[in-house]
Amino acid sequence: MMLAYMDRAAAAAEPEDAGSPSTVAASAAADDEAARDFGGLVSARPAAVVLPASVDDVAAAIRAAALRPNLTVAARGNGHSVSGQAMAEGGLVLDMRALALPRRIHLVRTSQSPNGFAADVPGGALWEEVLHWGVKQHGLAPASWTDYLRLTVGGTLSNGGVSGQSFRYGPQVRWTRVVYASFADYTADAEWLVTRPADAAFDYVEGFAFVNSDDPVNGWPMVPFPGGAGFDPALLPAGAGPVLYCLEVVLYQHNQHQHQPDDDDDEDKVRNRGEKEKMKRKVSAMMAPLKYVRGLEFGVDVGYVEFLSRVNRVEEEARRNGSWAAPHPWLNLFVSARDIVAFDAAVIKGMLADGIDGPMLIYPMLRSKWDPNTSVALPDGEIFYLVALLRFCRDGGAAVEELVSQNRAVLAACRANGYDFKTYFPSYRSEPEWRAHFGATRWKRFVDRKARYDPLAILAPGQKIFPRATTKAGGTVI
Ligand SMILES: Cc1cc2nc3c(=O)[nH]c(=O)nc-3n(C[C@H](O)[C@H](O)[C@H](O)COP(=O)(O)OP(=O)(O)OC[C@H]3O[C@@H](n4cnc5c(N)ncnc54)[C@H](O)[C@@H]3O)c2cc1C
Repeated sequence: MMLAYMDRAAAAAEPEDAGSPSTVAASAAADDEAARDFGGLVSARPAAVVLPASVDDVAAAIRAAALRPNLTVAARGNGHSVSGQAMAEGGLVLDMRALALPRRIHLVRTSQSPNGFAADVPGGALWEEVLHWGVKQHGLAPASWTDYLRLTVGGTLSNGGVSGQSFRYGPQVRWTRVVYASFADYTADAEWLVTRPADAAFDYVEGFAFVNSDDPVNGWPMVPFPGGAGFDPALLPAGAGPVLYCLEVVLYQHNQHQHQPDDDDDEDKVRNRGEKEKMKRKVSAMMAPLKYVRGLEFGVDVGYVEFLSRVNRVEEEARRNGSWAAPHPWLNLFVSARDIVAFDAAVIKGMLADGIDGPMLIYPMLRSKWDPNTSVALPDGEIFYLVALLRFCRDGGAAVEELVSQNRAVLAACRANGYDFKTYFPSYRSEPEWRAHFGATRWKRFVDRKARYDPLAILAPGQKIFPRATTKAGGTVI
């Protein structure tokens, strides 16, 4: 087993027959890193951080844990979960980034993809690494992305992975935002857009709520694209409330003409201008039936990779102002379309009308696009909304507590009002709560799968669903 470092306590605890790590070194910095995550609300110190060099190393770490009572193992991707899901208190944390060498990403043939290709990717690879590998080496990219690409493939797939797009490769993108004062109009248009036939659909549909103010984080200034027209509040209809909505769509342009090094630059420019104008007209025609506030529409042409990397700019700014490293009391929900208008009235307009110091995403998705074999829990009905309260607060202590309480109050309101909703990235502490989350049938399937694949509950202790068992079924004491 090849371990790059492991702390001394765990090394001392390692049973002789478990196979010794080839490298053992105390690393307080690595332990500190593995003891926290992006959420900044939970801390759990591991006994050791393991850098696996191969799949065999992962297997060996799990075998070693199985031989010791109470030792657990957590895979850690990029640590961007918010409730300690990638942590292992007193256990082993496998740093999956160690396995993510670019040379380990391979293009493979498959009958399950429309173009016959798939990528074979180490779980610890960042989506950003997959994007650059695919585009540069093969002119290909996955069909769907998360909004932010510095998440690992394994960490995202283990939790879900949502965004507002299906994929068509192209070097330019027309990216458009339009504003609504009426939530009913917003949802009607958003649902219409996500149910359009593929040949008449945008490649990406998302949206967010923002507040009727000049707040740079939550208000009007967050909607226009830099360098373009500004937000003119005079265009809002009389009686526009404290909360507004922005629908965001993107159309990818398929490149008819690949730029060649000996292309004449002027000809290229003229061709590009022509293609951009055509795209603009096409997007305008697709937007024409929508009921957004006329005049409050913003568009920009960006490259495909630039569009997919858009959240990197948010990261840079948040690192500058200190809110990246601060706690993130985020709350992510799936709310059924049946209840979304009532949810908006009670929660978004009712409880969060002053904004949340970060984006409030709210956009529809289709249940039929989700694989029923995964363990994600969704509300009933074909259309449901992602509601993501992505708070970036710089103040610690009491302010964080207040926001965590507000999250609890939102959940309590959803339950009290009988909304059909599920938490996304759930973080429950008791079995009845997990059972309610999955529903009776799916909970049974989940428990059966755990018993089959991880009978001692060694893995994923940070999810706090199954306590580490000391006996196998049949009574063998470990
Ligand atoms: C700024 C930001 C933007 C985000 N944007 C989106 C978005 O657009 N869409 C979306 O769906 N989510 C989004 N998320 C949430 C994100 O997808 C999840 O938090 C995800 O789990 C983070 O990935 P990670 O690599 O950091 O995983 P970690 O936090 O390291 O791990 C998460 C879970 O996955 C497990 N895990 C990690 N790697 C593996 C592996 N190789 N094999 C098995 N299990 C593994 C861990 O044990 C843990 O339980 C965002 C989060 C942040 C902080």
